[in-house]
Amino acid sequence: MILALAVLAAAVATPTPDAEIRTAAERIAPAVVALRRAHPELSNREERTGHLVAERLHDLGLEVRYPVARTGVVGILRGGRPGGVVALRADMDALPIDEKTDAPYKSRTPGVMHACGHDAHTATLLGAAEVLSGLRARLPGTVVFLFQPAEEGAPVGEEGGAPLMVKEGALDDPKVEAVFGFHVGGWAAAGEMGFTDGPIFASSDTFRIEVAGRTVHGAQPHQGLDPIPIAAEIVQALQLIVSRQVDGRQPRVLTIGRIEGGTRFNIIADRVVMDGTLRTHDAAVRADIKARMARTVKGVAEAHGTSATLGFFDEGNPPTVNDAALARAVGIPALQRLFGPKAVRVEPQMVAEDFPFFGQKAPYFYFLLGTRNDAKGIASQNHTESFDVDEDVLPLGVRALATLAWDFLARKP
Ligand SMILES: [Zn+2]
Ligand SMILES: [Zn+2]
Repeated sequence: MILALAVLAAAVATPTPDAEIRTAAERIAPAVVALRRAHPELSNREERTGHLVAERLHDLGLEVRYPVARTGVVGILRGGRPGGVVALRADMDALPIDEKTDAPYKSRTPGVMHACGHDAHTATLLGAAEVLSGLRARLPGTVVFLFQPAEEGAPVGEEGGAPLMVKEGALDDPKVEAVFGFHVGGWAAAGEMGFTDGPIFASSDTFRIEVAGRTVHGAQPHQGLDPIPIAAEIVQALQLIVSRQVDGRQPRVLTIGRIEGGTRFNIIADRVVMDGTLRTHDAAVRADIKARMARTVKGVAEAHGTSATLGFFDEGNPPTVNDAALARAVGIPALQRLFGPKAVRVEPQMVAEDFPFFGQKAPYFYFLLGTRNDAKGIASQNHTESFDVDEDVLPLGVRALATLAWDFLARKP
């Protein structure tokens, strides 16, 4: 009984100040919106953004490590009470798309726009840093703020993103015990919070297949080696892997998005190149399909007397799979407490993230924040030239992040 009371006392010693977090988040909302309208920069080129973030965290009184992973920033907020260490993460990069919205704050950089909403993530996380630093004296532990570059993929030949943040020790000192992050998107109505206690995003692997041929006059294919029908057969055979060889209950997508070969209608091509992407929600399914792809590409090519190669561009993104215990103990109860019926369990999606690389160091919980608002004409999906977010939801994101961090720290004995 005495022990139980002691545990209870510890648990309520520093309860999350929901009302204060809410008030602070709403008070700083205009500043968060202004921050969101900063300048979009491509992956690994977030010089201005990273600099702005580092300055802002410094002004808030945080310990700042900058640059990390090229243009990234790590901010450390040590609370006035002892406790654990939790990390909150935002990505900062934009996409090579020419913005076609009518918003007065649209990108002023031709060919670069925040079509995935990472500007909203960065601004929201800066907002959470401000809110929590204002409550620092009572904060029972340490919050590490991770601002990472290059989520959309580093330029060819460069390292970047979450893997490089991990490699450079962003989660090591202080040693992070849990990571929280989220993504905005047009897939849900403004203010809707989506969660799971398992898979939420897919793995993604980008691959290239090259089929060797031998060029000759198109009227005499038997004197050369035509790679085009062989490539067609490989495309079909790959679809048979996902439709016939994998357990039907396992989500998976294999897409060939680009195919190129030949120069002219009456010349047999010398080779065919195909690029594609593989998506799954499970590490074992992912590995299994990759092995079957290699066997199939090689086997079909050999059956026709030629060779073909299958190469994966990089190590790809693992599936984003929420830690079930963390989701049930902290993530889901926090979102439900804050947002009631607006926090909903969602089906996992086939899009991908590099966030799960942080999972190499600590369990994580990742959620979705809907930003579509049809009445305001904000209805496009991420990665389109007309994507935008309903900025009114940004304070909700600030509250969610600040609360998740505090809830995690508060429940530690
Ligand atoms: Zn994206
Ligand atoms: Zn994104």
